[in-house]
Amino acid sequence: MIGGGALGAATAYHLRRLGVQDVVLLERDALGSGSTSKAAGGIRAQFADELNIRIALRSLDEFESFGEEISFRQHGYLFLLDRLEDVATFRAALALQQSLGVQSRELTPAQAAEIVPQLEIGDLLAATYCERDGYATPEAVVQHYARESDATILQGCAATGIRVQQDRIVGVETSAGRIDTDTVVCCAGVWSRDVGALAGVPLPVEGEARSMWFTPEDGGLPERVPLTIDFSTGFYFHREGPGLAFGGRERALEDVAVAAARRLPVLADLPVQSSWWGWYDVSPDWNALVGEAREVSRFLYATGFSGHGFQQAPAVGEHLAELVVGREPTLDLSPFSAERFAAGAERPETFVV
Ligand SMILES: Cc1cc2nc3c(=O)[nH]c(=O)nc-3n(C[C@H](O)[C@H](O)[C@H](O)COP(=O)(O)OP(=O)(O)OC[C@H]3O[C@@H](n4cnc5c(N)ncnc54)[C@H](O)[C@@H]3O)c2cc1C
Repeated sequence: MIGGGALGAATAYHLRRLGVQDVVLLERDALGSGSTSKAAGGIRAQFADELNIRIALRSLDEFESFGEEISFRQHGYLFLLDRLEDVATFRAALALQQSLGVQSRELTPAQAAEIVPQLEIGDLLAATYCERDGYATPEAVVQHYARESDATILQGCAATGIRVQQDRIVGVETSAGRIDTDTVVCCAGVWSRDVGALAGVPLPVEGEARSMWFTPEDGGLPERVPLTIDFSTGFYFHREGPGLAFGGRERALEDVAVAAARRLPVLADLPVQSSWWGWYDVSPDWNALVGEAREVSRFLYATGFSGHGFQQAPAVGEHLAELVVGREPTLDLSPFSAERFAAGAERPETFVV
């Protein structure tokens, strides 16, 4: 296993559950130090792509089973819509979500304001809400998986080469020496392109920098604040300790601040106490890249999550573990193969932030 973020740790955990004993997880820095530690922690079943909804339902079961250990706050996800075309798209997605058992529903702007009274709703057309959604602490999820996996975890140890003979993997070179193996699972996040190249496997993932900011006070918002997203601008926020966490599609605070102050005016009066930025691991159609490479035998990968990798880790980790042991996958994720682009089978997810 290469990469100790949410995906690598979840896969190690599921390999253990399937009875695999000799798992080695390589992390060149520290567990969770990549994109996972920079995530907002959002977990939602409100997607437009059926496969993402199925992944979410499977993952929600697992997150719920971890309970307080991962600080899973099921305070819902609230999407705010101010464009007619978005209302139509979200209504179609709600019908699909509900047909799969998701209890998402449409709200009027006034109903959205009952949940978060500080919202400016004058220009809103509609909102959608799902109570089962929420947010958790990504590093806690990684630690939980790592602890339960019983894998050999080598932190500060980079994979530097993959030895291939006649299209078969025979070993991995690391900064601490060589490991003999016939199987590599690449969970290296935005760096998966480089790891794939070590084995001659093209993985079309690019980094896109995203920032988050934190306030020390909450502006009087309710105790239960859903992860609220102003969909047209990408501005989002949720409660974080005594204050708020917020972000958007832009990297700079002055750009996100425009939409933020318009939708949540109290935010304009709150000081920013801290911030961070990290990489979105983005694929060409903003959907995940998951599967087993054709170029070389037993090179498996999961990357390109385009802003929703943390929340998909349980179901995708389970899937990778099933591929490793040759078990019939619980979910058919073959449409997410990295080969879909060459085959002209792109699969765009529209509910991306
Ligand atoms: C600001 C922000 C907000 C986000 N919000 C959300 C959200 O609300 N919900 C959500 O689901 N997702 C969110 N995301 C996206 C999410 O963070 C990622 O999709 C997810 O964390 C990817 O996890 P990963 O395990 O694949 O990658 P990472 O966490 O990046 O882990 C990859 C690891 O591989 C290691 N590595 C790389 N190369 C090597 C090598 N050669 N040898 C050994 N180790 C190596 C790295 O050090 C790294 O630790 C957000 C991202 C950002 C930046």
